[in-house]
Amino acid sequence: MGQGEFDLIRRIAAKVSPRQETRLGIGDDCALVQIPQGHELAITVDTMVEGTHFLKGTNPRHLGHKLLAVNLSDLAAMGAEPLWCTLALTLPDLDPIWIEAFLEGFFNLAKSHHIEVIGGDTTQGPRAMTVQALGKIPIGEALRRSHAKVGDLIYISGPLGGAGLGLRMRQNLTTIQDKAAIDALECPTPRTALGQALRGIAHACIDISDGLLADLGHILNSSEVGATIDIEAIPLLTSVRSYCAATGDMEFPLTSGDDYELCFTVPSDQRGRVDSLLKQHQLEGRVIGEIVKNKGLHVLQGGRPLLLKGKGYEHFKNSTT
Ligand code: ADP
Ligand code: MG
Repeated sequence: MGQGEFDLIRRIAAKVSPRQETRLGIGDDCALVQIPQGHELAITVDTMVEGTHFLKGTNPRHLGHKLLAVNLSDLAAMGAEPLWCTLALTLPDLDPIWIEAFLEGFFNLAKSHHIEVIGGDTTQGPRAMTVQALGKIPIGEALRRSHAKVGDLIYISGPLGGAGLGLRMRQNLTTIQDKAAIDALECPTPRTALGQALRGIAHACIDISDGLLADLGHILNSSEVGATIDIEAIPLLTSVRSYCAATGDMEFPLTSGDDYELCFTVPSDQRGRVDSLLKQHQLEGRVIGEIVKNKGLHVLQGGRPLLLKGKGYEHFKNSTT
């Protein structure tokens, strides 16, 4: 991209708040970091592609926020503390207004989470952005999908379906208007502090990016257990409740993705501790069910089994790859 590319990298570098564990940040062929003693590194990467993950014309400040937020959410789901990230930008042009807004959204969230940008890549092409994030976890304390136990309570950290409704609003597929749903879609809040607080308490944890059915399904498959959940126990925005009632689609909050709440399982004797943690972090999380021996996901409504039609979001589901 020539001179403009280096101007952009300089602008990014000027916004970085360095961490003491960093030996070398932006500017060389690689970054160099020192892994804090007694810790493992948690590493995750997520890409957002225009047309697939966001609509053309989405506010760039929200895109910058969300790109980092979805990666921080993965770190949170492992119980990791954010340390570093790299930022790969593929842009059709170097529109300074778009870039400034994007970087503002990105770096506001980066600063509040003390995560340092230590490198990246810049290329020209159809708009797509990737972040790789690294966080630290005391050795052996990561929250894995595979450790749920029969008898565990299943929690979610907050309301579901908000992002899905926000997307329908943006696509003019509903007459409901709710800023909270748009915020859930465009400015999700990663549950970073909660994830770390759940170390040593939760048996299993995942962040809900593809919908509760799909993501709780991952916990069940990797832990080789089943679950019973009560659809009426799931916290919902009032607008989502209205949407479900108006469309008759009660499954909507279970299958729509992009909410980035945590779903985690804890032994039942930890309930009091988890409830006060949620309160302390001002989250509307609650118990929605329990882990059972009988494989599969059993959804109850008013005590009766609900037959489900949908699944969560899956890329490539209509292709042969
Ligand atoms: P190289 O050609 O050796 O890969 P680049 O010219 O791509 O190096 O990048 C120069 C430096 O700027 C590297 O340290 C790289 O990590 C960093 N960098 C490039 N693009 C970005 C970006 N979008 N965000 C942050 N750092 C970047
Ligand atoms: Mg490069």
